[in-house]
Amino acid sequence: MSQNNILTSAIKQMEKAREFTDISHEVIDRLEHTKNILEVSIPVRMDDGSLKIFTGMRVRHNDLRGPTKGGIRYHPEVNLNEIKTLAFLMTFKCAVLNLPFGGAKGGIIVNPKELSRFELERLSRGYIEMISDFIGPDTDIPAPDVYTNEMIMGWMASEYNIIKRQKYPAVITGKPLSLGGSLGRDTATARGAFYIIEELKKLKKINPEKTKVAVQGFGNAGFHIAALLFDAGYKIVAVSDSQGAIYSEKGLNPYHVKKFKDEHKALKAVYCEESVCDILEHKSITNAELLELDVDILIPAALENQITKENASTIKAPIVVELANGPVTDEADDILEKKNILVIPDILANAGGVTVSYFEGVQNKSRYYWPLKEIHEKLSEKMKSSFHDVYKIHEKNKITMRTAAYVLALKRIGDAVKSLGTKEYYIAA
Ligand code: GLU
Repeated sequence: MSQNNILTSAIKQMEKAREFTDISHEVIDRLEHTKNILEVSIPVRMDDGSLKIFTGMRVRHNDLRGPTKGGIRYHPEVNLNEIKTLAFLMTFKCAVLNLPFGGAKGGIIVNPKELSRFELERLSRGYIEMISDFIGPDTDIPAPDVYTNEMIMGWMASEYNIIKRQKYPAVITGKPLSLGGSLGRDTATARGAFYIIEELKKLKKINPEKTKVAVQGFGNAGFHIAALLFDAGYKIVAVSDSQGAIYSEKGLNPYHVKKFKDEHKALKAVYCEESVCDILEHKSITNAELLELDVDILIPAALENQITKENASTIKAPIVVELANGPVTDEADDILEKKNILVIPDILANAGGVTVSYFEGVQNKSRYYWPLKEIHEKLSEKMKSSFHDVYKIHEKNKITMRTAAYVLALKRIGDAVKSLGTKEYYIAA
């Protein structure tokens, strides 16, 4: 699918929900449009003395329900249409979880692996310099996303504070703990999905020991979900990174895989004891093959557009949990629905990250920090109640979980639009 189509695909997924709500067409009209877009060029002095100009962007999709919120992505394939789509998804994600935010997203076209630490810091601070009038703790609040991390968020928050000559910790979430970050933010995206899988376990009578799981992507979300499920007794049979995937019928220990990857920059199934690691028997497969494995739960945790009309009919997992944003296209959705595959959509499944970002902002503003136990309890409560709200709509209307999540979000956003008056209100006067 071309990048031009990903926004159209996301809008189509939203539109499927429209007939199950009684919202005014004005709501849909507003949501089909992006609030504002900023594109910037960032000059960076490279370590060899040369000057390189990078392109960055920040998109605010909709702020009816509050300041806009969403991550910043560093990737060579970042483009405006992708960032607009991801900002669109954030609006709905925040509404599904009933967080007082609208949606936004940012990105820089860059392969961060090619930069030195100094260059990465200069680029991150330079980006904030260019967008500092566009963001703010009560306007638009960035956070980490693909290939950005807490250190980068720390540099960004520090740069914003230098520019504004005041301390605004709530301008960015996902910061290091020592700079006002929240406990539990690092594992929040995965933990949120884990709580949902726990609810599915009860509903579908899943026995973890007999449940095979494949996880595509071994970044923050991918690694942590594999680890949480492994700790809960699930069998992780495949994991992957951008280079490829590994598969082991007997199951993998994600902690050992991570240790090996951190040390050798390669994915291998290993057994580690103290500092000794032995490579275990496993099959190397492609990322595409991972998606088609005969597993019980498939977790795409990498990038968008992974399950499309080309490969949807080959998916065998009865449950797909979208930890990535936008991994399934609207056409693929129809095919998966016909195959009776239960897809837990991104705007619900990966909302744990932004939920703990919300907690981080609340703590920053009150300057009172909560213990980890409290974060976990509050996250669990939010994820479980949103899951059940969506599940009820799914059951009642016999629609997919994605359409049901959009119904819930549209209703909440629709209420905000209605409170300010729609045509129906004005012509009745
Ligand atoms: N990038 C994450 C997401 O896509 C987190 C956003 C946030 O915390 O604001 O949901």
